[in-house]
Amino acid sequence: MSLIERDLSVVWHPYTQMKTAAPPIPIVRGEGACLYDENGKCYIDAVSSWWVNIHGHAHPYIAQKVAEQLNMLEHVIFAGFTHEPAVELAERVLKILPQNQAKVFYSDNGSTAVEVAIKMCLQYWHNQGVQRTKILALKNAYHGDTFGAMAVSGRSAFTAAFDSLLFEVEFIDLPNDSNIQTLKSQISNLKSNLACFIFEPLVQGAGGMLMYEAKYLDELMAHCRKEGVLMIADEVFTGFGRTGKAFACDHLTTRPDIMCFSKGLTGGTMAMGLTTCAQSIYDAFLSDDKLKTLFHGHSYTANPVTCSAALASMDLFIADSTKKNIERIVTRHEQFAARIKDHPKIRVTRQTGTILAMEWETGSDTSYFNSLRDKLYNYFLDAGIILRPLGNILYILPPYCITDDQLDYIYGKIESALEEL
Ligand SMILES: *Cc1c(COP(=O)(O)O)cnc(C)c1O
Repeated sequence: MSLIERDLSVVWHPYTQMKTAAPPIPIVRGEGACLYDENGKCYIDAVSSWWVNIHGHAHPYIAQKVAEQLNMLEHVIFAGFTHEPAVELAERVLKILPQNQAKVFYSDNGSTAVEVAIKMCLQYWHNQGVQRTKILALKNAYHGDTFGAMAVSGRSAFTAAFDSLLFEVEFIDLPNDSNIQTLKSQISNLKSNLACFIFEPLVQGAGGMLMYEAKYLDELMAHCRKEGVLMIADEVFTGFGRTGKAFACDHLTTRPDIMCFSKGLTGGTMAMGLTTCAQSIYDAFLSDDKLKTLFHGHSYTANPVTCSAALASMDLFIADSTKKNIERIVTRHEQFAARIKDHPKIRVTRQTGTILAMEWETGSDTSYFNSLRDKLYNYFLDAGIILRPLGNILYILPPYCITDDQLDYIYGKIESALEEL
């Protein structure tokens, strides 16, 4: 049997309608921005393998550090025990985060980082005997696929089967110049019951690479602070350079109480989630009363091998060459967006840092909308590029090591798609 046949007989793939999906493409190796199939064909990974990869595939430096750690200590229970990689990673992450972040809680992925953040906020109030139980979130948000994370995400086709079981959340529009005052009074009206406000700062990724201005988010956050509403910045997607700065919150002056990280954290090597918080959050759990403990943990919490991958990725991330690469991608994206923005098939282009999104014209026919997504996806796959449109929204989200030649090739193929499709 071929690998594809074996796969189809035993594997159930994520976000995939197994009845109608094309068979999966076997990948055997990766290097830089390239993923190679069995025949040696390179696919340029223009979506960073579901937004996680930042330094390229099979990076030799990360591989070496992970191998060293594997030979030293592969895992230890993280309650009652600790280890150098977990402590060093926490120290180094806090050093580059907004200054109010004081403690690091480890978990397994972006969804669990969000679950932990929500629990921290709800129990923060509970521990103080204050009735604040409602959560405020943004329309079209995406915070993950576990139940709590799903509940604070926008209701959509993805959540439809579970909607009746998701706890109630107050959803507000993305802040802009014309609605900011209304949003602020909405918050003021709800505040006595609002535990927290969770948001993806500047860019709502899965919602369609929807972007909004830092200054309005800042104003909304300042208002939340004034009203005593805790703030969770979900930087699972935007963290580690995607927005042009190290973190999306670096574009803001108000500091969130809690932050969530995952995707780029290990450079895309292994799964890990981080929830960081301000001292005041942590302090609300300190007590002689054992019931005030944060009762949360996962079997692989702070896995040493994963920590070593994150540490190695951090070494690469803070290097000057990475900063230059990010700036280079930002500039190249700007130039390309300017070139195509007036094309009749482009409704609008949006860019925040290294994230460039292009909304394609679909006409009024919504069935065309579906076929357009698949047409685009297959067109680029045939050309050896992985671009995975969200409906009619095509986006480029490359690892920072992508070369100018590879970017030119992607831009060129998008321009041909504009003519041919
Ligand atoms: C992807 C994502 C998550 C969920 O992370 P997983 O590791 O896939 O569970 C949460 N929040 C945001 C903003 C994301 O983009």
